[in-house]
Amino acid sequence: MKKQHIQTLAIHAGEKKGKNTDIIQPIHLSTTFERNEDSTTGEYIYTRAENPNRIAVEQKMASIEGVKTAIAFASGMAAINALFDTLLEPNCHILIPDDCYHGTRQLLDNFFKRWNVQSEMVDMTNVTNIEKRIQPNTKLIWIETPSNPQLKITDIEAVVSLAKKKAVVTVCDNTFATPILQKTLEIGIDYVMYSSTKFFSGHSDILGGVVLTNKEDEVSQSIRNYQKMAGAVPSPFDCWLLNRSLATFPLRFKAQCENATTIAHYLITHSKIEKVFYPGLTSHENHEIAKKQMKNGFGSIISILVKGNQEKALQFTSKLQIFKHATSLGGVESLVEHRRSVEGINPISPENLIRLSIGIEYIEDLIADLEQALM
Ligand SMILES: *Cc1c(COP(=O)(O)O)cnc(C)c1O
Repeated sequence: MKKQHIQTLAIHAGEKKGKNTDIIQPIHLSTTFERNEDSTTGEYIYTRAENPNRIAVEQKMASIEGVKTAIAFASGMAAINALFDTLLEPNCHILIPDDCYHGTRQLLDNFFKRWNVQSEMVDMTNVTNIEKRIQPNTKLIWIETPSNPQLKITDIEAVVSLAKKKAVVTVCDNTFATPILQKTLEIGIDYVMYSSTKFFSGHSDILGGVVLTNKEDEVSQSIRNYQKMAGAVPSPFDCWLLNRSLATFPLRFKAQCENATTIAHYLITHSKIEKVFYPGLTSHENHEIAKKQMKNGFGSIISILVKGNQEKALQFTSKLQIFKHATSLGGVESLVEHRRSVEGINPISPENLIRLSIGIEYIEDLIADLEQALM
């Protein structure tokens, strides 16, 4: 059969009906599975190691990405931790973006310092900055493009060719772009990870993470083993829900990107806004690179600098009615957040930066809400 479109795969890939005639796979809550008379085992033994719902959702995510392996975790952070634990070693050096997801940065600072892992933040909008900082003990280049929350763009192709030359492993946190916009493994990234809590879930009701790769070597096998042994696995119910959510992910995400494009163009002309960060705008400093590597859109996250100080920025968020003031992103409902308040110790965002996660509400209602809050 002809290679299927992502929209078809998102509905059908991985769905296992079993022996009954259900169209939808049931939830397998059993933690343990019966052995044969001679004590040999069937397909399933114990749910931490393998669960039918988890296998189904892993197969669906692998199909959407167009790769062999997907390894599901209980959260994006658990996926990140699995990558660090398997790819890093004591006394090594890792490069992370200066505008890195705060949890990634804090995980390194809090737990990998004991291994004397030196994590260094670099402005990754220019690959020569990365090249200059590569050390003999650099094990990993971690990229995030677009980054959170400043939507900085890193040239993936350039990073891949640099990393190959220097024999350094690459990981991309592709949560913001999703495989719909950016297939980073096709470009040559070694491992891609997503917080499936965000766009894959899309309804702000599942926590999850996933690591995907085309590699079948010892390291990727050890990430699989890490999942089973360290045990940060998603529950059968979360896997079932995620499977259901993924069916509508391509359509939801397309609508979110379209709404975001319209809103970014609206905000950039507004007199109360100092700056709009959105890779789809020609004014974005790396718009050309974004255009080269992002297909079908530029995502649904927009950050803005509201003219004035923190107080002005918070006045704006509190006046919004449709947009809810909460952290997280990627859901069908639009959210707004004062990023600096949630970044914990050593926040990096400017005090007047507000991040918007655009949902799929009717566009004119969203614009009207922004309009009244900016009055
Ligand atoms: C939310 C997020 C994470 C962490 O994922 P959780 O599911 O919250 O653990 C990592 N990276 C990015 C870019 C995120 O937005």
